Order: sequence, then structure tokens, then C-alpha cells
Amino acid sequence: MQPSQQMIDNETGRYLPVIYPEELPYWEGARKRQLVLQCCKGCGKAWYPIGPACPRCFSMDFEWKQMSGRGKIHNYVIYHKAWTPWFQKRVPYAVVQVELEEGPRLTTNLLDCPVGEVKIGMPVEVAYEDIPGDITLVQFRRAAR
Ligand SMILES: [Zn+2]
Repeated sequence: MQPSQQMIDNETGRYLPVIYPEELPYWEGARKRQLVLQCCKGCGKAWYPIGPACPRCFSMDFEWKQMSGRGKIHNYVIYHKAWTPWFQKRVPYAVVQVELEEGPRLTTNLLDCPVGEVKIGMPVEVAYEDIPGDITLVQFRRAAR
């Protein structure tokens, strides 16, 4: 996988993510069905979004670690407007903020869940969606209980 500039998939019209070199471990992890985030070697905090230093202690000494993939919905919004043609058949859809067991919050999509059933506090687990451009997105779905 090579770093990419944001582009639109010609076949589907879907926007593809911009992938920066410092994010490659995250994207390569996703392709292997693993959610990996940066963890501080100083204080142990895991963080997201990806950045050069620990947001707690500002150490730049970190490692990439696999997360449990379990969390809960911290917050969400329902979009009723299709901002790009790709979303025409998908509105209304939820954009959720998932708080992982390890603490970081990821803004993501909730797969296979009608918008009327999305609830704050709902247990979720990581899921993966392969999209054009040889990219795998980290998504979430309701936890199997
Ligand atoms: Zn730290």
C-alpha cells in the first residue's frame, strides 16, 4: 500500500481516504483485520487520531499496538443529506463516535444497524470494509451478545 492523495473511485463515486505515510501501520493493520493504534511507551496511553506525540505526556516514544476492537457508542449524528452522489442511496445514515475499551474515540460508521436503533452506550465491535483502491476501512457493528 502506498501513501495516497484523496481521490474518488471512478466506478462507485465514493471518496477514498487520504493515507499519509505516518498512518501506514494503521492502514496495514486494517488490511489484516487488526485495529492498531499508537501507544505511549512512557505512560501507556493509546491515542487517536494518529499524531507524533502522546496527548497525555507529550512523549514521542510510542509503539503500534493491537486494540481489543470492543467499545461503546459515545455519541452519534444522523445525516439526512447526501453530500456526495455516493450517499444518495444511503441517507439517512449514522456517523458514530466509538469509545474503545482502551480509551481512544474513533469517528466511524456503524454497519448493518438501522439509524433508529443507534443508541449512546450501545456495545460495538470493530468490523472491516474493503473498498476500492486496495483500502480497508475500520468500521464498527453492534457487538454480538
Ligand atoms: Zn504518554
